[in-house]
Amino acid sequence: MSPNSEEITAIDLHEQIKSGKRKAREVLDETFARIDKMDTQVGAFLTLTQEHAYQVADEVDRKVAAKENLPMLAGVPIAVKDNINMTGVPTTCGSKILGGFVSPYGATAYQKLRERLMPVVGKTNMDEFAMGSSTENSALKVTHNPWDLDRVPGGSSGGSAAAVSSGEVLISLGSDTGGSVRQPAALCGVYGIKPTYGTVSRYGLVAFGSSLDQISPFGRNVHDTAATLSAIMGFDPKDSTSVEPQGSQNYFRDIEMGIRGLKVGYIQELKGDGMQPEVATSFDAAIKTLTDMGAEVVPISLSTVNLAVAAYYIVATAEASSNLARFDGVRYGARKEEGVNDIKAMYRKTRMDGFGAEVKRRIMLGTFSLSSGYYDAFYGKAQKVRKLMRQEFEDAWRDVDVLICPTSPTTAFKIGEKADDPVQMYLSDIATIPVNMTGIPGISIPCGFDNDNMPIGLQILGPHFSESLLFRVARAFERETGLTNLQPKWG
Ligand code: GLN
Repeated sequence: MSPNSEEITAIDLHEQIKSGKRKAREVLDETFARIDKMDTQVGAFLTLTQEHAYQVADEVDRKVAAKENLPMLAGVPIAVKDNINMTGVPTTCGSKILGGFVSPYGATAYQKLRERLMPVVGKTNMDEFAMGSSTENSALKVTHNPWDLDRVPGGSSGGSAAAVSSGEVLISLGSDTGGSVRQPAALCGVYGIKPTYGTVSRYGLVAFGSSLDQISPFGRNVHDTAATLSAIMGFDPKDSTSVEPQGSQNYFRDIEMGIRGLKVGYIQELKGDGMQPEVATSFDAAIKTLTDMGAEVVPISLSTVNLAVAAYYIVATAEASSNLARFDGVRYGARKEEGVNDIKAMYRKTRMDGFGAEVKRRIMLGTFSLSSGYYDAFYGKAQKVRKLMRQEFEDAWRDVDVLICPTSPTTAFKIGEKADDPVQMYLSDIATIPVNMTGIPGISIPCGFDNDNMPIGLQILGPHFSESLLFRVARAFERETGLTNLQPKWG
């Protein structure tokens, strides 16, 4: 099956629509037909939003007919993770506890897509409340990796990654709290960037770890990924941690400049020890490619990286235990009250039945680490580690322009392989978590394949607000290796 055969990139597709060569409505027809055909096997989508999508597409076609200007990417279908609210559409967060909930408002990121006339075709599957690294924690369905349907797509934004990897859509949005866009991007052979914390508004994104969460885009190539980030970024007074962007927000101006003379540091602690051998080999090859292209590649030691997983699983669970207190059967979603006769029992039953095992584990861990007598030993200490990590990264930027490491220690594993082993699952995030803990941007790009032809990801990190530079390095690598618009062969 070769989906999107004519629609090579989202930017090209937009150009075709703009020039009148193709109608936005026809593009949507084809997209829904493709989803219909492929999604029985991939399982990326939870809800399809035809009504909204056709409304937007018709608006695009009207504007083209009237020769009006169109914003970048207008008419290009996009998929959105099911923790980003769309007006009048269910938001499930992959959980039973939100059963029946229809969002009365739209997230800022969604409103921006609406303003830019990008039709959202549906909401994608995810680990429950974005907690997980395989999408297996979804209470609603299983999502399969398009490169091998017996394997996980990664997580927690596995639905959004699989939808782009399969070619059902060309671009999508996920959310990244500890790696949930970059890790599935790596496992599905696509591109994903977590921007600087504060760059994309969190308003209308269901909160998991508020000091870490960022809505983040997926694409099949660097340009599409950059264009999608441009579409959703920007200051938003509705998000108290939103920031005025600094530095160049024109991601395209220097994107083809190449990397001659740039200084690239590889993180020694994440060079490949203990990782799948092919991941380590592919990373070494990436170092060589960057060197051959004229970059100076040097080792950089960041010792706090070794503490990142431990500290993250305290900070993220502490914040989650507070954020998820609102799901109590009173205001949102499902309420369980059979056989109970007081409100506390109703809360208990709703939460007991509504949350899955991983979410309960996180709430318990978070509540414990915040409880009196333990706060200093756990939460307080994790915050100190976070500060040290920030300092160590700050110091690194004095020596190098960007840092690199593998995105994930392994390629996509089999469905069920790690489902019963939370610690193994948590370790999937070892290379992505430091980026959220420090607030810097990070992009995952394809850099090779393992012996089973499963994709491997390379991660590029830079100082706060260095997205343009990350796209430039990613683009140079993409151009050199030709690892772009990858299409799994199946079906
Ligand atoms: N896998 C990590 C976790 O389970 C990251 C999740 C995310 O980024 N949303 O917390």
